[in-house]
Amino acid sequence: MTSTLPVSTNGNGPLVKNGKLPALESLVSERIRARLRDKDVSFLANDNVADYILPGELDELQVEVADRVRDLLKALVIDIENDHNTAETAERVAKMYLHEVFKGRYHQQPKVASFPNVKKLDEIYTVGPITVRSACSHHLVPIMGNCWIGIKPGERVIGLSKFTRVADWVFSRPHIQEEAVMILADEIERLCEPQGLGIIIKAQHYCMKWRGVKEPQTSMVNSVVRGDFRHDPSLKQEFFELVRQQEALLST
Ligand SMILES: [Zn+2]
Repeated sequence: MTSTLPVSTNGNGPLVKNGKLPALESLVSERIRARLRDKDVSFLANDNVADYILPGELDELQVEVADRVRDLLKALVIDIENDHNTAETAERVAKMYLHEVFKGRYHQQPKVASFPNVKKLDEIYTVGPITVRSACSHHLVPIMGNCWIGIKPGERVIGLSKFTRVADWVFSRPHIQEEAVMILADEIERLCEPQGLGIIIKAQHYCMKWRGVKEPQTSMVNSVVRGDFRHDPSLKQEFFELVRQQEALLST
């Protein structure tokens, strides 16, 4: 639900100026939203919107988000004026959302250089486990797990550490795991156009551990296979076997 009334003060003075409420467009989130709608660009929880945020607007957005988090704390009947523990929680949470745990929505993809596959490498390799940290779109509580990426190289290759950076960027958004793996696969295909690609994600969901059924051991595993991994069952098998070996190495 969108509030039409700016009700809080943001520490930089009251939002009501000269006895008038500001126009909606003066809220930076409204300006960014209007820009996205104008271009017909999707801005779901697991989309990246960095291209539509102008220089300086992220700082403004941080102030606005802190205002809204302050409102949330007040609605939870927490005495933020007198509780030294929560006095600056709104600012901390705003910064954490925009620049840490959801940075994959607001920041550009880390630079990833790709190189021609001059040696015509075509043996498959796997990278993992890569730690993935996300939050579920339904409750905004953590999803923590591991990811393995298998590649049969195509025309271009990228450095191994780049897979970690891209995975971190993709996962640092509110997600559901089934979509996260598809988005990561799309990004990797775009970056190095592999002949075959496989991704496995095994993660624990705090909406099952911390709340709800409170089942601490349950994890969710899902995978995506594309290109040669999809068409060639033996290649797919090889990928899953390599990941099993990597996992076994971890537990020795
Ligand atoms: Zn959830």
